[in-house]
Amino acid sequence: MANERTLSIIKPDAVAGNHIGAIYDRFEQAGLKIVAAKMLQLDDEKAGGFYAEHAERPFYNDLKSFMMSGPVLVSVLEGENAIAKHREIMGATNPKDAAVGTIRADFASSIDENAVHGSDSAESAKREISYFFNDDEVCARTR
Ligand code: GDP
Ligand code: MG
Repeated sequence: MANERTLSIIKPDAVAGNHIGAIYDRFEQAGLKIVAAKMLQLDDEKAGGFYAEHAERPFYNDLKSFMMSGPVLVSVLEGENAIAKHREIMGATNPKDAAVGTIRADFASSIDENAVHGSDSAESAKREISYFFNDDEVCARTR
């Protein structure tokens, strides 16, 4: 088991629905610690850069528009197997396929508006964390 960090985003639909506390509660109950957090209004460049891997996909423009439709809460979560644990708690990309009790099953309305993002690998986590946070914005949780 590895102590890891992952990049978590509470997307505009879940922020608008006032689900920040409920979503954070699931991560904290699972033992993940918030080590960085900020609310941001993304613009086309910042949203597009974050999802650059999907630039050729037919849903790219809709995805960018959605991610710019209101503020997002961007966080770094730390803990044992944080990357896989976050994805498990988050649920499948399409909420219709998401397991009972996952965030996407409970808070997402569709594949376009699916409440949360979580990094999918150690490589992505490193890139995505540095996309939003400087090193000095991530705190040590030692006590
Ligand atoms: P994730 O890692 O589970 O968030 O999924 P992906 O990395 O594959 O896709 C990134 C985001 O693009 C997803 O969270 C969805 O919001 C959106 N997305 C992915 N696949 C589709 C699709 O087939 N149609 C639409 N409309 N959106 C999609
Ligand atoms: Mg992904």
